Amino acid sequence: MATTNDKIIHYTADELIRVSVAVTRGITQKARECHNLSPVAAAALGRTMTGAALLAGDYKSHEGVSLRFSGGGPLGVVHADCFDSQYLRGYVDNPIVDLPLKENGKLDVGTAVGRDGQVSVTRFTPQEMTYTSQSDIVSGEIAEDLAYYLLTSEQVPSTISLGVLVDRDYSIAASGGFLVQALPGAKDEDLVRVEKNIAAIGPITSYLHEHQDAEELASLIYGDMHFHELYRMPLSWRCTCSKERIENVLLSLQEADKAELLNDPQVEMTCHYCNSKYVISHDELVELFKKKEK
Ligand SMILES: [Zn+2]
Repeated sequence: MATTNDKIIHYTADELIRVSVAVTRGITQKARECHNLSPVAAAALGRTMTGAALLAGDYKSHEGVSLRFSGGGPLGVVHADCFDSQYLRGYVDNPIVDLPLKENGKLDVGTAVGRDGQVSVTRFTPQEMTYTSQSDIVSGEIAEDLAYYLLTSEQVPSTISLGVLVDRDYSIAASGGFLVQALPGAKDEDLVRVEKNIAAIGPITSYLHEHQDAEELASLIYGDMHFHELYRMPLSWRCTCSKERIENVLLSLQEADKAELLNDPQVEMTCHYCNSKYVISHDELVELFKKKEK
């Protein structure tokens, strides 16, 4: 796969208005290929992964975030994780769901995700889960739901825009978004200006399609306000699965289940998050269970 420009950039104006911009085209493309996602599934998962990158804590705290949408729609659960502020992975329960386009010609992510349920947000560090909270799904379109979550559960007024553009050949033509957060003390007049600037940008998918590096996006959002870049990180698709982790799962099974596995010529396990297949031969399995006994 070609190298990508996937990244997240954080900016601030007077420590009062934070803007984060994420570009995720390569990651959404990778997810599309790993899970064989339909266009609407790719759009839902791409938006959710981008949202996870935007909601993750800063890189110093190594805080990660998981977003889980259970909206009762045909996609089932849509789940995305962001680790270490820079690694993303995710899945949908039913990756081949296809729906008619909306009247405006856009993918119907809201119907695919469903509007009858909740979004759960879990924050964690490499050592522990620190926090988990839920809010109702408002539209199933992901960005609106996350803005509602941030306002009601974390009390931070936010504007989020997320978009994925899927080409006719199902490749990902654009993916990314931005998050604007007003910290306590931000002036109403500045927020009104920012909202106006955001409206002038138009649909985020069109913007990202034309400006893949998104380097100018923050200056369009801030307009003539003074702002500076805090830091930037590359983003990439990565899963934490490994043969060792799969072996640990096998070792944690009940004795009866282990005995049953030993009847098979080999054990095949697929990682839910990235669809990687792991094959453990009968001999390896015997060896693994023997080692544990010692
Ligand atoms: Zn995996």
